[in-house]
Amino acid sequence: MDADERRRVRTLPDVSKGLFSEEAPPAGPFLAVALERSIDGKTLTYAPPAESAEVANALVGRACMAPLGRGGKGGAPTRGVIIGVGGAELLEGFDPHKVRRLLAVSDAKLPDGVLELGRWISEYYACPLGMTLAAMLPAAVKKAVGRKTRTALKPSGAGTDAKLPPATKKALEGIRDIPADAWPLEERDLVSRLELKNASPLRRLVTLGLLEEVILTDVVARTEDATRLAVEPGPTPTPTAQQRAIIEGVSLDGFSTHLLFGVTGSGKTEVYLQLLERVLASGKSGIVLVPEIALTPQLSSRFVARFAPTLGERGVAVLHSGLSAGQRHRAWDAVSRGLARVVVGPRSALFAPLTNVGLIVVDEEHASDYKQDQAPRYHGRDAAIKRAQIEGCPVLLGSATPSLESWRNAQLGRSTLWRMPTRAPGSAGLPMVEVVDLAQERKVSRERGERMELLGPTLESALRDTLNAGGQAVMLLNRRGFARVVACPDAMCGWTLTCDSCSAAMVFHRKGVLSRKGLVRCHHCLAEQVTPKSCPACGKKTILLGRGTQRLEDELAERMGLDESEMARMDGDTMNRAADYQSVLSRIADGSIRVLLGTQMIAKGLDFPNIRLVGVVDADTALGIADWRCQERTFQLVSQVAGRAGRGDKPGRVTVQTLSPDLPSIQAAAIHDYERFAADELEVRKAAHLPPFTRAAWIVARDRQYSRAEARAFEIAGLLTEAFRDNARIEGPAPAPLERTHDEYRVGLEVYAANAAILRDGLLKIRARHGLVSDASVAIDVDPVSIW
Ligand code: ADP
Ligand code: ZN
Ligand code: ZN
Repeated sequence: MDADERRRVRTLPDVSKGLFSEEAPPAGPFLAVALERSIDGKTLTYAPPAESAEVANALVGRACMAPLGRGGKGGAPTRGVIIGVGGAELLEGFDPHKVRRLLAVSDAKLPDGVLELGRWISEYYACPLGMTLAAMLPAAVKKAVGRKTRTALKPSGAGTDAKLPPATKKALEGIRDIPADAWPLEERDLVSRLELKNASPLRRLVTLGLLEEVILTDVVARTEDATRLAVEPGPTPTPTAQQRAIIEGVSLDGFSTHLLFGVTGSGKTEVYLQLLERVLASGKSGIVLVPEIALTPQLSSRFVARFAPTLGERGVAVLHSGLSAGQRHRAWDAVSRGLARVVVGPRSALFAPLTNVGLIVVDEEHASDYKQDQAPRYHGRDAAIKRAQIEGCPVLLGSATPSLESWRNAQLGRSTLWRMPTRAPGSAGLPMVEVVDLAQERKVSRERGERMELLGPTLESALRDTLNAGGQAVMLLNRRGFARVVACPDAMCGWTLTCDSCSAAMVFHRKGVLSRKGLVRCHHCLAEQVTPKSCPACGKKTILLGRGTQRLEDELAERMGLDESEMARMDGDTMNRAADYQSVLSRIADGSIRVLLGTQMIAKGLDFPNIRLVGVVDADTALGIADWRCQERTFQLVSQVAGRAGRGDKPGRVTVQTLSPDLPSIQAAAIHDYERFAADELEVRKAAHLPPFTRAAWIVARDRQYSRAEARAFEIAGLLTEAFRDNARIEGPAPAPLERTHDEYRVGLEVYAANAAILRDGLLKIRARHGLVSDASVAIDVDPVSIW
């Protein structure tokens, strides 16, 4: 343990003691607590625990345990966060003698900036404050997983006239020679340092008040995070002119927003790194958000490699979903103590308890993963902008395909636009993209007397050429499983297998490569069953329709003669742990994997120089979604995955198979023309009064009975009409795209308001008057990334 880690802290009060503690002092101080389960808009008032030695002000932001209701002696212990401190005014007339004490206060503390961000999220995303704050603290932190306390000693500073036994006297003299910054020391260490026979002289000094005991806490994890790649730091490249403009141009003083629009491989990550160097040099810290960290160890390892040599191993906290509870708490603790000054992680890393934030970076800012899909349904990018505003620091959004929201903000001058139109030195430049018409491909196959499955003749021969030349290839198919639908072959019968609990087809997953054995699974509720052999309606033998990634794997094995070990499939079924991803990455790096196939997971982050071909097996998957963002999604997906090709010195090639080759999103992606796509798509959005020209909210009522879900949705529609009057357009109620899931029917409403303030105020009005928030029966999704 190094000197920085030593910190004197109060021990956690014993919960059982708290229950029987004497009553709170009537004059306060009192604490306002937002309980995880409290009703919207309500905080409860408590007194500090009897044992709390700390001034009440220092308790704000701390996680705590509070007694609630009448359960047990003092009420059921309930988690919450202390959000304020005050005197009798917090009681609102309540008898001060009846105020209960908190049962315990934890070390875990949300700094003021994070607390304020929590208030904003609670307000803007229509989620109760207690629930919001609860979500901002990792469970491992609340439960103090791996927290260890030890007793250590330090000189009290007091003198003595007492006559000391020789051994004790010698110990005291030795103690005076130990430099001040070495304290506190554990008894064991002190015994050996002073070359004592045993600890009794030290005990005597404690009794005499010359040494005092302090409690040290530390958080230990049983294992190291295995996904932290050991990467050689390597020399820092000299920035190109386009990189330098940003690195030097972003002002670190005060809040400002920046959009870095740089093509794939243009060196955006290098810009983040060098900007962070400036920030660290100024004594401040930085947060880097990435879409899904399990999928971007390549990226996070660059931050570790660059900064760990100077900041130390704990100086760079990499947060991701694969961490154990102990690892997560240890990383959080390092941030909280100011040991970690660079935090890299997914959206929740935004809540890291840094206190001296000097820069926030949002990489791949367009990614829909930044939206949390359960309450609080915040958008990580927008919350990042808010936190930067709170902290008074710049926020840098980076993307090769900026979201139309961010693009428009740049056009309106709300953020500074930085362009990096060319790839970094050492790359062969942006790849050639060829769009092929699937209808045409089928025809060619038929003429050759072949039956086309997933790979058309053009893509197949491109793949053959690439592999023969020793290149590696990436194949994107955005559908998991083997077959999307189990159906009756008889069109007149029309039976397809759907989930008992959801209005969705069951997807067939087979057991191994080239195996036809398997089971069907619902991708929404994860229910599984054996695959029906025959149609329950007419008895005909069932067929499998709609090909997924497993089928593609088979086709590559059959047609290209690829061995199982030469391919890796990366999708939600194979990538269960961060280590799975890790192993695939190292096998791509060492060349043993020749073809990487998978869903959109493979579209982001991969940077391997020998990937020379990218095949988009079906560009139309995103077009199926019933959503006005489908063109944007298609453009992003095709552009991003194309960006994996040709990052080395050999030129890359991209083949896109589609049924709609003339679609503007596909055409623009083929010529790497984001700006044209954005201009066209913004026209469409403007004419239809859709975001980013308006702000949307998606509200879903759910119930086991359709009629009740519908009635609730109509009721909400009435409240919306009353609150917004002519200030918003309300569409619905109508059955949601996913009409039923987990045995509940879903009826939805879309709200479109002219701007964020109008949307927020309207929703707040209904919340105050009618208590409408996200709860068990209603989901409110402000600024949704999809209508779900
Ligand atoms: P992006 O994040 O835009 O996709 P990266 O930052 O990953 O791009 O850069 C792509 C590749 O180019 C990386 O391998 C990186 O090390 C390299 N690179 C970036 N900037 C420079 C530079 N100024 N000089 C040489 N190589 C660079
Ligand atoms: Zn289901
Ligand atoms: Zn049938």
